[in-house]
Amino acid sequence: PHDQLPFDPKKRTIVILGSGWGAVSLLKKINTDDYNVVVVSPRNYFLFTPLLPSCTVGTIELRSIMEPIRFITRHKSRNVKFYESACTDVDPESKTVVISDVSDIKGSVQDTTIPYDYLVVAVGADNQTFGMAGVREYACFLKEIWDAQKIRTRLMDCVESAAFAHQAPEEVERLLRMVVVGGGPTGVEYAAELHDFLKDDLQLWYPELADKLKITLVEALPNVLPMFSSQLISYTERTFKQNNIEVLTKTMVKEVGDKAIKVQNADKEIVSIPYGLLVWATGNCPRPLAKKLMARLKETQTSPRGLLVDDYMRVAGAPDVYAIGDVTFSKYAPTAQVATQQGKYLADIFESLARIDEGKNVKISPFAYTHQGSLAYIGSDKAIADLPFLNGNVSVGGVATFVFWRSAYISNMFSFRNRFLVVGDWVKSKIFGRDVSRE
Ligand code: FAD
Ligand code: NAD
Repeated sequence: PHDQLPFDPKKRTIVILGSGWGAVSLLKKINTDDYNVVVVSPRNYFLFTPLLPSCTVGTIELRSIMEPIRFITRHKSRNVKFYESACTDVDPESKTVVISDVSDIKGSVQDTTIPYDYLVVAVGADNQTFGMAGVREYACFLKEIWDAQKIRTRLMDCVESAAFAHQAPEEVERLLRMVVVGGGPTGVEYAAELHDFLKDDLQLWYPELADKLKITLVEALPNVLPMFSSQLISYTERTFKQNNIEVLTKTMVKEVGDKAIKVQNADKEIVSIPYGLLVWATGNCPRPLAKKLMARLKETQTSPRGLLVDDYMRVAGAPDVYAIGDVTFSKYAPTAQVATQQGKYLADIFESLARIDEGKNVKISPFAYTHQGSLAYIGSDKAIADLPFLNGNVSVGGVATFVFWRSAYISNMFSFRNRFLVVGDWVKSKIFGRDVSRE
């Protein structure tokens, strides 16, 4: 890093909000010879979300899928500033952002304002709760590192409490009922990992309890994984059935309490489902920062579902402000695949803008997305994949797809260090089993 060029007041400054898929793929590709770059994010690392469900049961350790931002920025030609803070306001008029230290330990300055020439909003999305009381209080989400940690701790707490001396049989049943709300890929992959943990590890260490553990997946639509082909949906539902994962489709959660949820089932009856652990995976909604910016730009930002951008990722109504990834609402699904391609695209845009500044004649093309396929893990060493092939699509599922799933994720990781750690964790959990200590 000591060889890096310092900040240059004559160059334009790009402020990037976020350290997730969109922000980091932009950061990796951007040419810092042309710009000063500042990154603002409340977490000082990148998180490889596709393997987060594996961390909830200890197949993979949390730090194996985290990459410090400073490991990424050290390779740049010019020093990149990183501020561990949340952006709390964007003022497109004065071209400034307010950033706040939201960590537990703070210095005397906790809020400050920084200027930008170009701003990239890549803050991702929040968890959708539909404003339902009790969700934030009693359920666990699965988006961030601390969510996976909380799930792992609560899971083991439920198991140990069920094993407590003279525990009441109905309490054992409740504590060992694991309920997942939302049959999208997050809910499905979590249920799959939980099943593996039950089969591979709990049966060994808690033989008297393992048979009593029940996994229930609740989905409002008629089937799980609506984005996959019907063939793979049936395959997943069959595999779940074989694995004793109860799938309640056409079932809508209506109320969330501390020990039970109330759902409206397919027959329109209200039923109570007691739970020990409740995982909430019903998709995304805009973060407060995105809502604030949308409110400022209400003339042009007319969708409540996310920031509207044009084909060049420019935020409608805010000059020199770009947005990528889950913070946007567009024709693209909120996936890492989309955010990554948009991040790379923006790096090319900034390259072109720098050349235009030098007086060169450069044509800027709109963003074009290339879908590389959808993959999901469904348990028992099986995965499913919808892959584009020639002008159509091939749907495959099974153990071979699982090997492909693992290699695809490993090759998509941003660093050799992460690859090494993840492969090490896979080998470790195969040889020694998963760690059942409650952290
Ligand atoms: P994120 O990656 O969420 O990053 C947002 C960043 O902004 C974070 O660093 C956050 O700390 C930061 N931030 C938040 N608030 C502020 C603020 N106020 N100021 C500054 N920074 C802020 N997609 C796939 O394509 N394939 C998969 O297999 C896959 N698996 C997934 C598994 C799970 C469990 C989950 C939850 C998601 C998965 N996804 C997958 C979806 C994928 O993770 C998201 O689409 C992707 O993370 C979106 O990237 P992003 O950069 O928009 O946001
Ligand atoms: P999602 O939006 O894909 O799925 C949420 C599900 O919850 C929907 O099927 C919805 O019908 C259901 N739901 C909503 N409200 C409900 C209620 N009250 N009761 C019962 N069910 C309810 O959300 P996700 O799974 O968190 O995924 C978010 C994004 O991340 C998606 O774009 C997804 O493709 C992506 N992702 C991809 C992968 C992968 O590719 N393997 C893994 C995880 C996430």
